[in-house]
Amino acid sequence: MTRITTATASLVDLEVETVRTDATQSFVKQETILVRITTDDGLTGTGYSYTIGTGGRSVIALLRESLLPLLIGSDSRDIERLWRLAHNVTHATTVGAITSLALAAIDTALWDIRCLRADQPLWQVAGGYNNAVPVYDTENGWLHLSTDDLVAGAVAAQERGWGGTKIKVGKPTGQEDVERLRAVRDAVGRGFDIMVDANQALTGAEAIRRAAAFSDLDLFWFEEPLPADDVSGHVRLAQSTSIPVAVGESMYSIGQFRDYLQRGAASVIQTDAARIGGITPWLKVAHMAEAFNVDVCPHFLMELHVSLVAAVPNGRYVEYIPQLRAVTNDEITIVDGHAHAPNTPGLGIDWNHDALDDRRVV
Ligand code: MG
Repeated sequence: MTRITTATASLVDLEVETVRTDATQSFVKQETILVRITTDDGLTGTGYSYTIGTGGRSVIALLRESLLPLLIGSDSRDIERLWRLAHNVTHATTVGAITSLALAAIDTALWDIRCLRADQPLWQVAGGYNNAVPVYDTENGWLHLSTDDLVAGAVAAQERGWGGTKIKVGKPTGQEDVERLRAVRDAVGRGFDIMVDANQALTGAEAIRRAAAFSDLDLFWFEEPLPADDVSGHVRLAQSTSIPVAVGESMYSIGQFRDYLQRGAASVIQTDAARIGGITPWLKVAHMAEAFNVDVCPHFLMELHVSLVAAVPNGRYVEYIPQLRAVTNDEITIVDGHAHAPNTPGLGIDWNHDALDDRRVV
């Protein structure tokens, strides 16, 4: 038997490992939503999602009051059915971040059990393409950092053999962004990827103007230039520039990705497994993107996403932002600029449950 016997949720606050700012927000703390599911054949799966500072308690309430009780007695292998069941129960509050984060915590716990039962790692159970995936750095590109800091961070990433670095943009003037980016490009030369990210801070007109000002910097992508619900603005921007437009971290359903891909509004997809509702919808978006000949470079959560990028043929990059080191027993392995998806059965995240308990707030 594989019936679910218990399902619990907890909230664990993690301090940010470094100050992280962008053009619209700061990463205050990681509210980590943990779900643990056990089955009557003795398996326990741990799933998780997160916020960057607010809303975590709302997710926990939704899980405890409405979603986790639904799971008891169900076959843990029926992940699609259980995902749809939980989605339909909360239908009046979808599409939305709170619901998606709750679904993701359940879904990732069920995938953990699926992989444990198969005695295989996630990257193979989810597809099995190539367990070594290129890494780019975000941790040294925050908006508050000086130009000297940006240059030093980019050079360090290049010297480590990593493929690229992401620099936040959205300074009050485009000229300031250009000067910061030009200093980085001059330091690293060609052949090293520079991504830029405006975190939705620009108007359509300003994004087109800045993309033109960035045109000789050989940028790898222009991320979240506009508010995520402005699909038409992204279409106009994409038609105006040769810089690939990247979106996805602020999208919460597979249908939103369909709209962007159908309309040619983005050419890099950054699906976040927590915000899309788990591994189940993440894989659907990745496969849909493959049909549009578009690569997937997921947002944040590198400890989980390394295995998903390794699972699919159109996984291009993993984003380096370490945030679980205080509550895990090992770190992600990076060799020659490539992160290696864990080969241990399950999601591949070796949680330190004592450290989690110490930081538990709800
Ligand atoms: Mg971003």
